Amino acid sequence: MTETHEQIPEFANDNPDEMPVLRCNRCGKPITPETAVLTPTGYRCQDCIRQQQKVFDTTKGLDVVIGFLISGLIAFAGSWFVPRLGFFTILIAPGLGTLIYKAVRLAVKQRRSKALNSAILAGALIGSLPLLLPQMLNVIAMPADLFSVIGNLTPLIWRVVYTVLVATTAYAQTKGIRL
Ligand SMILES: [Zn+2]
Repeated sequence: MTETHEQIPEFANDNPDEMPVLRCNRCGKPITPETAVLTPTGYRCQDCIRQQQKVFDTTKGLDVVIGFLISGLIAFAGSWFVPRLGFFTILIAPGLGTLIYKAVRLAVKQRRSKALNSAILAGALIGSLPLLLPQMLNVIAMPADLFSVIGNLTPLIWRVVYTVLVATTAYAQTKGIRL
C-alpha cells in the first residue's frame, strides 16, 4: 500500500495522459483538490498553511494581556485631557493611537497575532469608557434648556471623537494601514 502511494508523483510524471497532479507550490507535495488551499501565490498543502499561520501568530504568554493593558492605560490617561483639548482632540488622538501601537509592539518584542490586534482595539475602547460613560449620563439626564444641552453635548462629542480616533488609529496600524 505504502509503496503504491509513494509512486504516485513519478507515475504521474511518466504518463502525460494522466490527470495532472496538483502540487503544493511551497513543498512540492502532491495534493488532492479537496485538501488544496488556494493562496494568492498558488495552491498549498494544509501542512504549509498551518506553518504559515504560526509565522503570523507569534504572540506568547501574556502578550495579549499586556497589549490590552498598555492600550487601555494610554487611552485612559489621554482621555483625562479631552475637556482641555477640545478641537485639538482631532490632532492628538491619532498620535495617541500610534503611541499605543508602538508601545505595545515594543513591550511584546514585535511579536504579533490577530488576538493581539483585537486586544489593542478593545483596550483603547475600554480605556476611554470610564470618562465617556459619565458624560453620556449627563446628556441623558440633562435638563431641557438650550444652554445645558450645548454645555453637556459638546464635551460628549469630543469624548466620542477621541474614543473613535484613538481606537481606529491604533487598530489600523496593527493591520499595517497608514492613516
Ligand atoms: Zn506544502
